[in-house]
Amino acid sequence: MIVGGGFAGYYTARELEARMRGPERDELEITLVARDNFLTFTPMLPSVPASTLAPRHVVTPLRQALRRTRFVRASVTDVDVASKRVRVAGALVDAGREPELLPYDDLVIGLGSTTNFFGVPGAAEHALTMKTVPDAMRLRNRVLDLLEAADAEESERRRRALLTIVIVGVGFSGCETAGELREFIQKTAALYPHVSRSDARVMLVGLDAECMPEIGARLGKWAREVLTKDGVEVRLGTAITRVADDHVLMKLPSGETERVETRGVVWTAGVAPSPAVAGLASPESKGRVLVDPTLKSPHHDGVWALGDAAAVPSTDGPGFCGPTAQHAMRQAATLAKNLLAAHRGRPLVWYKYKPLGLMASLGHHKAVALSFGIPLWGFLAWWMWRTYYLMRMPGLERKIRVALDWTIDLFLPRDTVVLRYESPGSQLILTPPPPRSLPAPPRGE
Ligand SMILES: Cc1cc2nc3c(=O)[nH]c(=O)nc-3n(C[C@H](O)[C@H](O)[C@H](O)COP(=O)(O)OP(=O)(O)OC[C@H]3O[C@@H](n4cnc5c(N)ncnc54)[C@H](O)[C@@H]3O)c2cc1C
Repeated sequence: MIVGGGFAGYYTARELEARMRGPERDELEITLVARDNFLTFTPMLPSVPASTLAPRHVVTPLRQALRRTRFVRASVTDVDVASKRVRVAGALVDAGREPELLPYDDLVIGLGSTTNFFGVPGAAEHALTMKTVPDAMRLRNRVLDLLEAADAEESERRRRALLTIVIVGVGFSGCETAGELREFIQKTAALYPHVSRSDARVMLVGLDAECMPEIGARLGKWAREVLTKDGVEVRLGTAITRVADDHVLMKLPSGETERVETRGVVWTAGVAPSPAVAGLASPESKGRVLVDPTLKSPHHDGVWALGDAAAVPSTDGPGFCGPTAQHAMRQAATLAKNLLAAHRGRPLVWYKYKPLGLMASLGHHKAVALSFGIPLWGFLAWWMWRTYYLMRMPGLERKIRVALDWTIDLFLPRDTVVLRYESPGSQLILTPPPPRSLPAPPRGE
């Protein structure tokens, strides 16, 4: 049983499907449990609030992509390792249905991470996040709502506050979101006669000494310079200490506190492990599931873990592998090999991977990249970013949709329609179905 349908879970299932041989296809049953019926291709997520990609085009439908895997759409609430069962609650709104217990022989944990607000007062209540497609849609709608409100606002001070977006976190997702949003606002501001481009302010705030510490100081510096040149206000060494509905407080490197009026705070800093695996986490792994280099838990029988949910020892230096899609996908290949090797009674292999490169797209047809140790930037890096991620997007049909969106973006203006989906009456209410037998019991029972 695989829990989680992101990079970790999806690629584990795909690798298992591809690597099972002969009778294994009948002997082994793969079940994937995930809250959503799609994989979110997060490197393209910042393109959604910027309207360069349609929301449905940055995801891959799991049922279509996995043909030998049984898919269960449900939320995992906890894992009982003693009885080898996973507790799940239905993903749809179901009236009074009891959570089910699904038995497993081997459990692969790929539940990803949640946003870490580091206990900053007001952050969880007032900040938008940028991890999922609904997050990206909410951010897009917020920006368009703010442009609309600013256009109707007569007070210059209040208009400026409405047009100030504060992005917290200078890592990959913060820098990419800042660059894309800045370009989107610049391209659409002309539609709002009382909004001038110079009123709009996109601030990127983080505690780190340089942008994108993941990519190295040289490229990080270059990313900062690109963003600054394109109008993003980058504040390094700066901590957000409070988030309210109409302002943020930040502690500057000098120790002084600055208040910034804003109605749009986007929190991209920090990841926290999924609460569903809290019972399996170890203190030394900061709440993630600790595994050995074969991706097997040394503490819990039949439990494997990978991706953002796991603390995987790094073979590239001390500590654990970083929370990137690159690691999650490659760990999936090792984990699938090891699961089958364990089934075949063969020795397990270690996860070894030194990232070959890193890339970040910063809007305005610019990106930074580190490829085989060679730093690249500007249009060439942006072209590489697009080509690489287009090839990586799972499924030919999705590749075509993304390529079409990008082509259309070259000729047509950005879409500024605000669509709202969430209304109390729009949710599907299910009456409890009659009791259904649980899937195959654990072998040996
Ligand atoms: C905006 C953004 C941009 C990024 N850009 C890059 C990039 O350019 N390159 C890169 O390498 N990395 C990038 N990352 C990081 C990358 O997305 C993660 O490291 C990667 O997604 C981790 O894969 P995962 O499968 O462990 O987790 P996820 O991809 O987050 O998948 C977790 C899965 O578990 C499911 N799930 C969670 N909780 C439950 C539950 N309780 N019950 C059932 N299902 C559940 C989710 O629905 C999801 O299917 C980016 C991240 C973000 C947010």
